[in-house]
Parts: sequence; C-alpha cells; structure tokens
Amino acid sequence: QEPIQVIGGGLAGTEAAWQIAQAGVPVILHEMRPKRFSPAHHTENLAELVCSNSFGAMASDRAAGLLHEELRQLGSIVISKADEHAVPAGGALAVDRGQFGEDLTQTLANHPLIDFRRGEVTAIPEGIVVLASGPLTSPDLGADLQRFTGMEYLNFFDAASPIITGDSINKDIAFMASRYDKGEAAYLNCPMNKEQYLQFREALCQAEQTELKDFEKETAKFFEACLPIEEMARRGEDTMRYGPLKPVGLSDPRNGERNYAVIQLRQEDKAGQLWNMVGFQTNLRWGEQKRVFQMIPGLEKAEFVRLGVMHRNTFLNAPQLMSASLQFKERPTLLAAGQLIGTEGYTAASAGGWLAGTNAARLALGKEPLILPVTTMMGALFEFIRSAAPKHFQPMAPNFGIVPDLGVKIKSKPEKYGRYRDRSLADLATWKTENLAV
Ligand code: FAD
Repeated sequence: QEPIQVIGGGLAGTEAAWQIAQAGVPVILHEMRPKRFSPAHHTENLAELVCSNSFGAMASDRAAGLLHEELRQLGSIVISKADEHAVPAGGALAVDRGQFGEDLTQTLANHPLIDFRRGEVTAIPEGIVVLASGPLTSPDLGADLQRFTGMEYLNFFDAASPIITGDSINKDIAFMASRYDKGEAAYLNCPMNKEQYLQFREALCQAEQTELKDFEKETAKFFEACLPIEEMARRGEDTMRYGPLKPVGLSDPRNGERNYAVIQLRQEDKAGQLWNMVGFQTNLRWGEQKRVFQMIPGLEKAEFVRLGVMHRNTFLNAPQLMSASLQFKERPTLLAAGQLIGTEGYTAASAGGWLAGTNAARLALGKEPLILPVTTMMGALFEFIRSAAPKHFQPMAPNFGIVPDLGVKIKSKPEKYGRYRDRSLADLATWKTENLAV
C-alpha cells in the first residue's frame, strides 16, 4: 500500500500520522527540524509547544476542556501524552514540555507503520497527503501552496479584530443599520458622544501593547494598510472618526441624529451568535483589550470569544477551499489541519490532525470520509471554517459561540455550558458507534 504523506510534525501532523498508523495504513511523517527551524521552534521534538505550555482550561464545561474530553474519547495521542505529562496549573491542562515532546517523538518513531523523515518538503506531493506545516510554513512550501490555491487564498499575516458573542451586546444601545441604509441592516452600531469618544481615545493611547517578536518586526511594515486601532488613535484626535469609527450615513434610532462616532460590529457566523469589531485589529495586551473595549457603549458586558492579534501566521482561506471533512474541494486526496486551515491553538490543531488523519486513512482504505456532529466542539469548529464568510475569514479558536444554540434560554453560564458539554459527549458517543465501530 502507498504510504500517506504527512507534512509537518507539529501538533496537527503528529496526531494525523498517529491516527493513520493506528488505522493500519503506512505513513511518512516529514518534519523539517532540526535541518531547518521556523523562527519560533527551537527543539527537534515532535509537537513542540512554541510558546505557552498550556492546552487551556481543563474543566469540560469550558470550550478548551470540552475539546480535550472529545479528543480523549477519540483516542488522541497528543491529549493522552498531555495528560501523562501534566503539571499543576490551576485548572489548566499544562505539561512538562520537554517530557511531552520527547515522549511523543519516541512513541511515533517506534511505530512500525510510521516512517519518520527529517527534512523539508518544498512542494505538495502526489497521492494522499495531509498538510500540517503550521503558522510558520517554510517559504518554499508556502509558495507552492499559493500556486495550488491561488494567491488570494493564502495569508501570511493575521490582523484580526476581536469577536464578541451577540447575546452579551446591549441591544438597547447598539442598533442594527447599514451605512446610508444600503441593503439589509447588516451591522450592529455602537454610538458614542464626543466625551465618550475622547475618553476612549485616551484609554487606547495609554493601554499596554504586546511586544512584537523579532521575526515579526520586519513584517510590521505590511500593516501600514491595516493599522492597529491604538496606532490610529495616536495619529490624531479625529483619525479614527475618519476611519473605522466614522459616524456618516447612520442615524441613532433613539433620537434620529448622527452620533459623534460609531463602532460597527459585523456578523461573523450564519446564526448571528458572533460579532466582529470592524477595523479593530490591535496589538494591545489581551487584558487591556477587554478593559478598553468594554468602555464602548453597548459593550460594557461584552464577552470576547477571540481577542485581536497582529502577527505572522500562514493560513488558508478555508471556507473557499475546504470541506468539513478537512479535504480540499479541488483535490479530495489532499487534506489539511492545524493553524494552516485557520483553527487557533494547540488543542484545535490536534483536533484537526485527528480528523484529517482519520479521513486520510479512510480514503486509503476505500471508506467514506467522516464529518463530526456540529454539536461537538470539534464538529462546530470545522463547520465554522467551512461555512464562515470567505471575504473576512480569520482564524478561530474553540468557543461556545460557534456551537449551535440549545433552543432553550438558560441564564446561568455554567449551566448552559454544562448542557453544551452533555449534548456534545452524548452525540459523540452515538457518532462513534455509528461510524467508528468495525
Ligand atoms: P506547528 O505546531 O507549528 O507545526 C508545524 C510543523 O511543520 C513544525 O514542526 C514545522 O517545523 C514543520 N514544517 C513547516 N514547514 C515545513 C516543511 N516545508 N517541511 C517539513 N516540515 C515543515 N497556540 C497556543 O495554543 N498557545 C500558545 O501559546 C501559542 N503561541 C504561539 C506563538 C507563536 C510565535 C506562534 C507562531 C504560534 C503560537 N500558537 C500558540 C499557535 C500555534 O502555532 C498553534 O497552536 C499550533 O502550534 C499549531 O499547530 P500546527 O500543527 O498547525 O503547527
């Protein structure tokens, strides 16, 4: 049997290669380290954790914790090794990164069906392939991916605005309208008077920023066309009012007048559960983003499912290119997972690796590829990257805002999230019996 090729031995590639081998199909796992390092990786280990050693909250009524639990139920190697090498971290699943990486490297290298090759892949191979080369994909492979997908479908930078849950926005203040009443009312608008605007600007100018990594400094020039909101605030008192906060073409339904400034929120998902702050890409520290953005009228109690970032990140326009089985529409024998498809974080990358690996093996065995139930965190994440609006597509971390509504109003968040968890694990158990039982 022709081996499947997995490109990249990060979080996604490691999980994918393991699932393929466990399905009885031979696999070649290509990892360019230590022959070549990305600017953020420093070891030879598989699944190197490039920054924090945490996989996020452990409790299964939190989005990250539910994803861990789903992956446990599905036999994930990454989560099983994370559990084995966990260190105390106050409610988070954090690991001893050295032991975790070494153990995974040994375990995969010792699997009889895994041919572990150290070397860079510079072009997408023929056959069944899983692409998992991550946010810092090597430049040659990046160029080939760009050729394959078309220029505009591959991004090298992530300049993302925060995303807020719809039910945390105060709709007595924020109003639905499109500028100049063009088309259907499509934006939620948060109005500001002059005093509120000046205080907000002052807070933005004073707020603490994150440090750019050295390898990101040279790329900062690319952001001139897409300035961070705090930089815009610093450039002049009215700069934001001529940019994303311009009040023209909108009148406040409370008094029919034009406001001094307006922040617009654009719908991010089909169900309208998530709203994106238009033009609010930012380098502010996460805590500072919450503090300052909650000064915006209507967002006092905003719940952020993603905060703004501006950093180097290779990712595909997945909604244009991929299906929820993580196959490319144009070439179903090519699959992809991890940061490359626009999921955010270690656990989400492992989850993508699980599905892409499982489906690659199924293709090799002549079986139908699988799609996970959308009521699971994994299924919801892959459904999001398939169905998000391609024009504004930005990477997404696991969160309860992407999971289908329960259909009943539950005020208490712990209870609501507990219900999401129960529904997910029940549906996953049924799905496993229907799809994975031999
Ligand atoms: P990676 O884990 O990066 O794996 C990709 C692998 O492919 C690498 O080992 C790389 O060497 C290899 N590779 C690349 N090109 C080739 C090639 N041509 N041939 C062969 N091999 C190749 N997420 C978090 O959850 N927490 C964090 O704290 C965090 N910090 C981050 C800090 C930085 C600087 C960056 C860039 C990202 C960070 N992320 C963090 C996001 C993180 O990258 C993902 O969560 C996760 O590592 C993505 O997994 P992946 O498998 O997609 O990519």
